[in-house]
Amino acid sequence: MFSVSEIITIKDKKFKRFIPHEQIQAAIQKSADLINRELKNELPVFLVVLNGAFIFAADLLKEINIPCEISFIKVASYHGTSSSGTVNELIGLTEDISGRTVVIVEDIVDTGITLEKIIGVLNKKNVKQIKVATLLLKPRSYKKEFKINYSGLSIGDEFVVGYGLDYDGLGRNLKEIYVLV
Ligand code: 5GP
Repeated sequence: MFSVSEIITIKDKKFKRFIPHEQIQAAIQKSADLINRELKNELPVFLVVLNGAFIFAADLLKEINIPCEISFIKVASYHGTSSSGTVNELIGLTEDISGRTVVIVEDIVDTGITLEKIIGVLNKKNVKQIKVATLLLKPRSYKKEFKINYSGLSIGDEFVVGYGLDYDGLGRNLKEIYVLV
């Protein structure tokens, strides 16, 4: 066993240990069990949203025991012509996903704006259905209507790092989740 620091400093900020490793793993197992049950006949495509979801996705997908495909995407937004407004693009989505059950794998859903962008693009690709799996959900900030099918842990409005989530590029490698103090 090695000891885990209760308080850590990242750049100019202090963070306190918030969600321990075992609690994260238990939440992931629950989501995986549900996905295994609900999507067993679907041959789902998991779309992992980089960068933040990489550690969650690795742990979640090791517990998925049904046939599936896995792909990695990044969301890019740019301003198109004045008539089209903001254009959202999913970088890395090269395969044909028409007719497929797609599971978006996110690290955290806060306001839901990122999710809305992703779903907006996927809706134009004739997918069969879209499911959402997130490790963390901030229910008080979430403003959208999309159902979060597989939600690991709900937290308040606080800012968290670790387990894939960063503060200014740092802290993604932390094994546990820390909260800003
Ligand atoms: P949204 O508001 O669009 O749901 O979330 C946007 C993005 O903000 C998330 O994908 C995540 O990258 C980032 N984010 C939201 N809350 C937190 C947080 O507490 N910690 C960190 N590190 N990122 C967050």
